[in-house]
Amino acid sequence: SIQELSDPSLFRQQAYINGAWCDALSGETSLILNPATQLPLARVPHMGAKETQSAIDAAAGALPAWRALTAKERSSKLRRWFELIIENTDDLALIMTHEQGKPLSEAKGEVAYGAAFIEWFAEEAKRVYGDTIPGHQADKRITVIRQGVGVTAAITPWNFPLAMITRKAAPALAAGCTMVVKPAQQTPFCALALAELAHRAGIPKGVFNVVPGDAIAIGNVLCESPIVRKLSFTGSTPVGITLMQQCAPTLKKLSLELGGNAPFIVFDDADLDAAVEGAMIAKYRNAGQTCVCANRIYVQAGIYDAFATKLVAAVNKLNLGNGLKDGVTTGPLINAAAVAKVTEHINDALDKGAKVLVGGKRHGLGGNFFEPTVLSQVNASMRVAKEETFGPLAPLFKFDDVDDVIAQANDTEFGLAAYFYCRDISLVYKVAEALEYGMVGVNTGLISTEVAPFGGIKSSGLGREGSKYGIEEYLEMKYICMSV
Ligand code: ADP
Repeated sequence: SIQELSDPSLFRQQAYINGAWCDALSGETSLILNPATQLPLARVPHMGAKETQSAIDAAAGALPAWRALTAKERSSKLRRWFELIIENTDDLALIMTHEQGKPLSEAKGEVAYGAAFIEWFAEEAKRVYGDTIPGHQADKRITVIRQGVGVTAAITPWNFPLAMITRKAAPALAAGCTMVVKPAQQTPFCALALAELAHRAGIPKGVFNVVPGDAIAIGNVLCESPIVRKLSFTGSTPVGITLMQQCAPTLKKLSLELGGNAPFIVFDDADLDAAVEGAMIAKYRNAGQTCVCANRIYVQAGIYDAFATKLVAAVNKLNLGNGLKDGVTTGPLINAAAVAKVTEHINDALDKGAKVLVGGKRHGLGGNFFEPTVLSQVNASMRVAKEETFGPLAPLFKFDDVDDVIAQANDTEFGLAAYFYCRDISLVYKVAEALEYGMVGVNTGLISTEVAPFGGIKSSGLGREGSKYGIEEYLEMKYICMSV
């Protein structure tokens, strides 16, 4: 249990289906560990195929009444949910830090960010406009309306245990859809706390369901069900591809937010201090475990050494530790597999000639703690150039030529986020337009917001979340042709 909670009833340890808290039919549970201490946190039911089917049936049962509400009625329930999340920020952040490891200040930031999607889509619910089209014959009148797709499903990752759910559930519910969520195995408790608050907000039973448990069994049922009309997934590219294949027979609508391999380019004329500050955020936020984290840092030859020196100085100020402690800036990685991947990427780079400027190994705190690392003399032959590290490793590549760095930045199967620092306005446009990415940060390392469309191209996925575009993912267009 979590001692510090002011409202312990937010820390739910059962699944939430059809407005009720329930256990697995088998009675099985999974033990969730705190990644900072590696001590047991609590157990959740290990749900499987049958329970998932019940959740889908509940979502289908709730659909007619939910979509029949006026947009304003749905909007006010979402607004209440948003307010309850904000009111309970401290408790939600505590739950998040315990299950995910990020520092409490970052956890509070995620609560605000996650809640903002509910606020935004509560507003957008009322603006699902249609069209009228001049008829093609004298007696024809053409109208276009947009309706919710129906029952939806979400499969979400552990790195943003709250925001990755609200970013999907808010537009779905706003559009008049109902939803079944399968949270990541590592982080079920934020999802369940969200369900508790949805309940308190008066969101009717069956509209929002949370089913933790066996990823493959639950995923199979969600993908194969003809009742589920849309799946929204955030996670790795290989799993996204598997889910897309599993959804093919029922031709489900899909949103896929998959892996990234973000380039972060610093040109000679950049504001060096701003670039270092941006790189710190884009690289070390959440200990490097975000899909938009800078994965490859390209620095132009004229400022390479100066940038490296300042980056190392900034990294030396990071304070590793249990995210509950005051002043901690960087928590642990999620588990031993994450530590192993960072270690492999560093060893591979060192074998091929890279040098450690700072960090480079597991931290003295032990467990899942890894030292924030900067490598120099990195080149395209190394694994860090091709694969997403998902950890606190900044590899510094040196470049001379603008066209060459654009080509290197685009030389990846991924296309989620890219960043660059530069003050020459004509170069700004050239580079922003040439980068093959869904999102580009110019002179900033932080681009996520509920008001803008988040998403990638190429192997980074399909669809956009947030903004006025995000709700379209949960709507079908219907054209009505009337003869008068
Ligand atoms: P990560 O490596 O970051 O955990 P994954 O893509 O493996 O990323 O996981 C993201 C989400 O997908 C999690 O909720 C996980 O449980 C779920 N997941 C993983 N494999 C499958 C699968 N075969 N079917 C359905 N869901 C899956």
